[in-house]
Amino acid sequence: MSLRRVSVFGATGSIGQSTLDLIGRAPDHYNVVALTAGRNVAQLAEDARRFKAEVAVISDESLLPELRLALQGCSTEAAAGVLALNEAASRPVDWVMSAIVGAAGLEPGLKALEQGATLALANKESLVTAGKLLLKTAAENGARVLPVDSEHSAVFQALVGEDISAVERVIITASGGAFRDWPVERLKQATVAQASSHPNWDMGQRITIDSASMFNKALEVIETHEYFGFLPDQIEVLIHPQSLVHALVGFQDGGLMAHLGAPDMRHAIGYALHYPKREKLPVARLNLAEIGQLDFAAPDIERYPALALANTVMERGGLSGAVFNVAKDAALDAFIAGQIGFTQMSEVVEEVLDLLLPDNGLIDAPMNLDNLRHATQLGQSTTAQVMRATKAI
Ligand code: NAD
Ligand code: MG
Repeated sequence: MSLRRVSVFGATGSIGQSTLDLIGRAPDHYNVVALTAGRNVAQLAEDARRFKAEVAVISDESLLPELRLALQGCSTEAAAGVLALNEAASRPVDWVMSAIVGAAGLEPGLKALEQGATLALANKESLVTAGKLLLKTAAENGARVLPVDSEHSAVFQALVGEDISAVERVIITASGGAFRDWPVERLKQATVAQASSHPNWDMGQRITIDSASMFNKALEVIETHEYFGFLPDQIEVLIHPQSLVHALVGFQDGGLMAHLGAPDMRHAIGYALHYPKREKLPVARLNLAEIGQLDFAAPDIERYPALALANTVMERGGLSGAVFNVAKDAALDAFIAGQIGFTQMSEVVEEVLDLLLPDNGLIDAPMNLDNLRHATQLGQSTTAQVMRATKAI
């Protein structure tokens, strides 16, 4: 049996570690090529040693000496910086987990697709920022993108063997996040610590806060549009506090295909790792009799204003996803740094979209890396300007 060559971008994060957990259960099947991380040298070095990775890349260049030291005596090459990340991403592999958080995941993802790898995509921000470019790059290189977000993996699985033109609607579920039971008036006072704990999922801090604000679901609505090509009015969000039904696909005969599973990302990661086969996965099995009840509700737009912004972005198209993503990230940074309040994140992003999206230049420009960089810089500077004018609570 030939070994599968695999790389994990963002290996030290929540998704990266769950991916290595699955790979580590069958080490004889895999040859680990590149492992990458932002700043966590200790975890990166530990995993590089354990999996005998060809190369370990730390994005923060100042940490290279530390990484070299941590890898002394083992065969793994140590590298650092964005260029090294792109070089490592260009090494031929069969399968890549894209689990860097934020738009920094886009370029390595493109590099992996350019050499024909299957890209298991957890990094939803790259689809929101440049979905068309990613899918075009995949098509041009005979490569494939597989969704790893739980909702999108669920939709993907519900569509197996189906005619996509018979789909009427897609429903992605949302737990409602940390503040689903709070009075709306109290949201203004929500702290970073309170927003950083999720009722059902154990995830990285940024996506956990994005779940509390529903920016995560807004990204996922756009991700559904970009990945599957469904129109904005075909995509619905449904609050489902138990997070056991991940998504439903509704067909024109009225039937709904639902995907259920424990809230464990190893479901979606494992499906993408073994696709098109289904292998045994170490996830909890649902006992529906014990669970007894599944609850659903319509999302309250007053509580989750970020959701409405997804529609604006999908309607405008072009580079508006890049602007939305960078504005959201800058507002999230400011919230984490204590510069703006929780509810001001969506106010700031809405204002940035109001200022920038009427400009047809951003909508009509071809989607390439130069134009994306321009849109990102414009989004960043406009968000900074809006935040300077915003009185923090
Ligand atoms: P995380 O914060 O736990 O991990 C992020 C990883 O990216 C780490 O390895 C970190 O070192 C690396 N990183 C951070 N900034 C970087 C940069 N600028 N350059 C290079 N590397 C950098 O995040 P996570 O929760 O694992 O999420 C990863 C991605 O998966 C995100 O796009 C997230 O939206 C998506 N996702 C996560 C979950 C989940 O359950 N955690 C579910 C669905 C989708
Ligand atoms: Mg999700």
